[in-house]
Amino acid sequence: MGSALDKDQGAGNDVPMPHDHRDHPHDRLPSDPALRVRALETVLTQKGLIDPAALDEIIDTYENRIGPRNGARVVARAWRDPDFCAALLDDATAVVSGMGYYGRQGEHMVAVQNTDETHNMVVCTLCSCYPWPLLGIPPTWYKSDAYRARAVREPRKVLADFGVTLPEGTAVRVWDSTAEVRYLVVPQRPEGTDGMSEEQLMALVTRDSMIGTGLAVSP
Ligand code: FE
Repeated sequence: MGSALDKDQGAGNDVPMPHDHRDHPHDRLPSDPALRVRALETVLTQKGLIDPAALDEIIDTYENRIGPRNGARVVARAWRDPDFCAALLDDATAVVSGMGYYGRQGEHMVAVQNTDETHNMVVCTLCSCYPWPLLGIPPTWYKSDAYRARAVREPRKVLADFGVTLPEGTAVRVWDSTAEVRYLVVPQRPEGTDGMSEEQLMALVTRDSMIGTGLAVSP
């Protein structure tokens, strides 16, 4: 599956995080997001506001049982079926809901399609909004300060960090996710995939290709 799926492991290298909190030592929260989350979870649990077992269940569901497979199925189907693709681009929420992909963090979906003219890339500049029902839990780099700032400011450089070089004539369009709207990128279908089944095509659709920081894999 190549470079795209390896990004999780190497995220820190690919998208450096200059914001290390040494510049404001008075910050009372631990700098490590994992520690912050742990602290918040402890407080909320002590107050009886959350149930840790329920949290674990939610995370396991989105991380292991959903992952990016749902999104890959949507893309593979869009590649094979022009009518489905048109409907998806027209009203992604309705189409993916019809496939059973609906739920928290994915209530209002918009699908954007990559072409020779336009490459789409998704970020959440405010926090980490992400289409959970289609792609699972967002990768660490997606939530990083560096990615969120640079995706808008210098998207081509970010793409280069991910190993993606686009033709000069291809425009990069960056979509800023919000709590209201989540985006799914439909990557370009690779050459040499005519006649492939939905399952075969799904294997070519990486998570990053549906965020726009990668391309679909050539068979
Ligand atoms: Fe967000």
